[in-house]
Amino acid sequence: MNSFLKIKAGWIIDGTSAPAAENIILTIENGVIKSLAPAGPETAQSASILDYSDCTILPGLTDAHVHLVMSGTTDMEIRETQLFVPYEKSAPVIQRHLEESLKSGVTSIRDGGDWGGHALRFVREDADITVIAKCAGKAWRADKRYGKLVGRSPKEGQTLARAIAEDGQNPDFIKVVGSGLNSLIEFGKQTPPQFSRQELSQAVQAAKKLGLAIMIHANGDEPVRIAVEAGCQSVEHGFFMGRDNLKRMAEHGTVWVPTAVTMEGYAQSIPDDDPKKAGALKNLEAQMELISRARELGVTLALGTDAGSTGVHHGRSLWREMALFMKAGFSLEEVVKAAAGNGADLLGLKDLGALAPGKAATLVMVKGSPQDLPASLQQPVGVMVRGK
Ligand SMILES: [Zn+2]
Repeated sequence: MNSFLKIKAGWIIDGTSAPAAENIILTIENGVIKSLAPAGPETAQSASILDYSDCTILPGLTDAHVHLVMSGTTDMEIRETQLFVPYEKSAPVIQRHLEESLKSGVTSIRDGGDWGGHALRFVREDADITVIAKCAGKAWRADKRYGKLVGRSPKEGQTLARAIAEDGQNPDFIKVVGSGLNSLIEFGKQTPPQFSRQELSQAVQAAKKLGLAIMIHANGDEPVRIAVEAGCQSVEHGFFMGRDNLKRMAEHGTVWVPTAVTMEGYAQSIPDDDPKKAGALKNLEAQMELISRARELGVTLALGTDAGSTGVHHGRSLWREMALFMKAGFSLEEVVKAAAGNGADLLGLKDLGALAPGKAATLVMVKGSPQDLPASLQQPVGVMVRGK
C-alpha cells in the first residue's frame, strides 16, 4: 500500500545552507520526500495536512563522533561500571544512548570505537532502533600510547596496515589514534605521532582495499599534517593543529570534526578552583578560533561531540556543538548543513542529509522559528528516520 503524507511547516531549513524558507508543504511518499512547495491559501484548511505551522523542520542530524559504551556523566562510580565491562553489561547502556540520541534529533551517529568492540557488535546483532549507527569497533593505537579505552595496538612486529588487513573485525570504518590527548594543564602541548606518515599511508591503502576509510584522532601540528597527507578521511579533534593544516585539509578534502564541546563539557563538570577548568576553557577558545578560520578557508566540517566524554551527554550535546560553531561565525543554515549534509556524506548515507526531493524522509521538528535554534533542539516535537 502506498503511504502518503503532507506536512505544513512554519519554516524549513533544508540542509543545503540555503536560507530558511517559510510556510512550506512537505510531501512524503513511501518514506521518500516528493516535493517542497510554498503553502497556498487552499492548503491552509485541508484536513489531510499535518499542521506544524508553529514549527521549524530540519533534516535529521549526524553526531559524527560518539562512544556509545560510555555516558557523559561526571559520576566516576557510574563511569567505572561502564569501562572495560563485558558485552552483556554494555548492551543496555548502548541502547539507552541510541534512544537519547534519537530523542534529540540525532538520526545518525558515527561511533569512534571502544576497547571491546561492543558498540559495533550491538548495532549489528541487537539494536532495536531507527537511529542509524556506523561503528569503528576496536580502534588502533600504538603500543604503550594513549587510546586503551577505545582500542588495541597491532601485534608485535605487525605493521598497522597488516593489522587492518588481517583483523577480520568487519567494521564500518577504521579508527586510528594518531596522537595523544590535548593537555588541560600545559596550553598547546604537542604529542608525537603514534604512527609515521608512511605507516599511515599504507594503512589508508589497506583500509581502501576493504572499502573502508580512516577516521583519525589527531591533535597537534605533526600528527594532523601526516594524517592529512596520508589521505585519512577525517581528522578528529585537531586541537592545536595550526593554520597550515587547515589549508592542507581544504586542499585534500579532509573532513574536520573539531569536538569543541568536549572542552565546554569538561569545564562545566569540574570545580572553579581546579586549574584544569581554566585550561579547558582556554583550549575551547583556541579551537573556536581554528573553526572560524576553517570556515573561511573552505574546510569541510562535520559535527561530532565525543559523547561519552566527561560532561558530554549523548544526543543533547549536539545542539551545544552547533551553538559553538555559530559563535565561531557559522550561520544557522551553514551549521545545519555541516551537521546534516556533511555528516551524512561522511557516513556514506547518500539518501540522507537534506530535505530535498528524492531524499529519504529523515527530519526533526522543533517548536518555534529558526530564531529559537539551535536551543530548541533540546526538545524536538518529532523525529522521523527514513519515513518512520
Ligand atoms: Zn572519541
